[in-house]
Amino acid sequence: MSKKHGPAKRIQGLDKNVWVEFVGLALEYKPVNLGQGFPDFAAPPNLVDALVKTISGEENKMMHQYTRGFGHPRLVKAISTLYSQLIGREINQNTEILCTVGAYDSLFCAFMGLIDEGDEVIIIEPYFDCYEPMTKMAGGVPVFVPLKPKHPRVPSTRDFVLDPEELASKFTDKTKALVLNTPNNPLGKVFKRSELEMIADLCKKHDVICISDEVYEWLVFDDNEHIRMASLPDMWDRTITIGSAGKTFSVTGWKLGWSYGPAHLIRPMMTIHQNSLYTIPTPLQEAAAIGFETELARLNQPDCYFKELAAMLKSKRERMAKFLSEVGLVPIIPEGGYFMMADTSGIDVDLNDPEVGDGNRDYKLVRWLTKKKGIGAIPPSAFYNPDHKHLGENYIRFCFIKEDSTLDKAEKIIREWKESMTNAK
Ligand code: PMP
Ligand code: GLN
Repeated sequence: MSKKHGPAKRIQGLDKNVWVEFVGLALEYKPVNLGQGFPDFAAPPNLVDALVKTISGEENKMMHQYTRGFGHPRLVKAISTLYSQLIGREINQNTEILCTVGAYDSLFCAFMGLIDEGDEVIIIEPYFDCYEPMTKMAGGVPVFVPLKPKHPRVPSTRDFVLDPEELASKFTDKTKALVLNTPNNPLGKVFKRSELEMIADLCKKHDVICISDEVYEWLVFDDNEHIRMASLPDMWDRTITIGSAGKTFSVTGWKLGWSYGPAHLIRPMMTIHQNSLYTIPTPLQEAAAIGFETELARLNQPDCYFKELAAMLKSKRERMAKFLSEVGLVPIIPEGGYFMMADTSGIDVDLNDPEVGDGNRDYKLVRWLTKKKGIGAIPPSAFYNPDHKHLGENYIRFCFIKEDSTLDKAEKIIREWKESMTNAK
């Protein structure tokens, strides 16, 4: 191939992607899919109705045409109304909000709009994998700091913590941004106020931006509370907060997201957006706006979709934890989100089979589980940098935002697997 036909330098080394491999594997083998995070149940009926009405064009034929580039007026209004209440300050719908193609695109606009060649970006491990390539594509340098279990076998993600001294040691005069993800994917850790304050104090001390990925903001269990980084004292001016309709309304296929923050941080993101996508689908934004309006009217009531979804997920979490434990997959109970990490070190399977391929233990085990047992999952070492992959490779990530019938199928396979292991002894 001619040298001129080669990939741009900015993407060299970024071709491997955990989703490309494991979503592909699930399509090929059709396992009970507990891998990529998406619900397999129906979207909220009121949201579907809103979309049907919108696209039927009865009320407004302009719903099939371009809308305002930085966000459809009805949607930015709804986002501003909701988050102004939650953050405790008035969010300007024209200058402080950007609507994007999923949270992914918000992340992309944030990295591309704010990170320069040589800027350092602190990323807390385990992290949603795209933070690393996006930092690099922008010319930045990722600097990693792991959440570590307080002792080897912790029961809850509450016991995964940052070492404040280690975190402080990562800040230099080149640090431009820190990426926070609460509730975290893949762990499901919900950062406590004291933990957020510790991070916020370091951001303020070193004049660093916080990119706060809060896509699972409504999915918190037990006595956990989702605290928005932007609501902490003096953090608004340095925080970009990112949300996703996919997670908020169980419609991942809509790929609709948003960012809110001070105009001086949103404006550079808008510059990337206006020169790449310019505007995003109108009907989805209109329907999501109607969805938000409905939830705003019942925000603190038990029938609010956000509360109903969290309550439903809590029982699915309990159920999955029980059946995983039975086979010796030791779960770390998540405080939020819809993933569960399970410790697989007690599982003894032959991973020398050529069918399981190579790479870290978790990659092989997930391929084995998919091909031999018919359960799809995600290998968590994908969420660690190359030097720290050993921290993730004895775990597997399972998704529990699934129909009970899907969880039944997974449970049955797991029970049979357990029996076959007992019989083999
Ligand atoms: N951030 C996190 C932490 C995620 O888990 C995901 C996956 N949905 C995204 C961002 C991307 O979200 P979206 O599908 O809205 O692009
Ligand atoms: N956030 C989802 C997950 O972690 C989907 C990821 C993706 O689509 N790349 O499974």
